[in-house]
Amino acid sequence: MHELASTRTLLLNSSYEPMRIVSWQKALILWFQGKVEVLEYHQIFARSVRSNHQLPSILRLKTYVRSRSRGDIRFSRENVYIRDDYTCQYCYEVYPTRLLTLDHVIPASKDGKKTWTNVVTACRECNQKKAARTPEQAKMPLKTPPRVPSWLPVVQWELKPGTVPPAWLQYLASKKVG
Ligand SMILES: [Zn+2]
Repeated sequence: MHELASTRTLLLNSSYEPMRIVSWQKALILWFQGKVEVLEYHQIFARSVRSNHQLPSILRLKTYVRSRSRGDIRFSRENVYIRDDYTCQYCYEVYPTRLLTLDHVIPASKDGKKTWTNVVTACRECNQKKAARTPEQAKMPLKTPPRVPSWLPVVQWELKPGTVPPAWLQYLASKKVG
């Protein structure tokens, strides 16, 4: 059962692409302003003096908003883990965050940069094994070539695993591209 305070709303573009997650207060404001249509509701109500509002779970903008460009997604440790699905890119296993680290594909000692396209998720063991070598030198092929992520982490970085309302999944899963 969700607490009112932690209730959030998934905001979709008019094209049904997820844009971001907003507080329920922000969701009600958008709704009252007539900028969105409600696709799904939470089974949660917010009471005010005069009325009782069922809180929206998924909103869709009536007008298309151009989403942020790819480069705007913040480069951070957590976002690299999210992009790589918490999977070591060398042994292809999923690990809890405390056992993960970031690996420079082209080692920093060989001028490899700390960027989306040169940093991947690795478990500590693989990270040590690979050491200051390229994947080719270490004979440790990457699971997926690292890329600048598309929109998905923009939404996901705000979510803790297991807290995603089931109704959201069809919108999050179907767009997992790039
Ligand atoms: Zn590994």
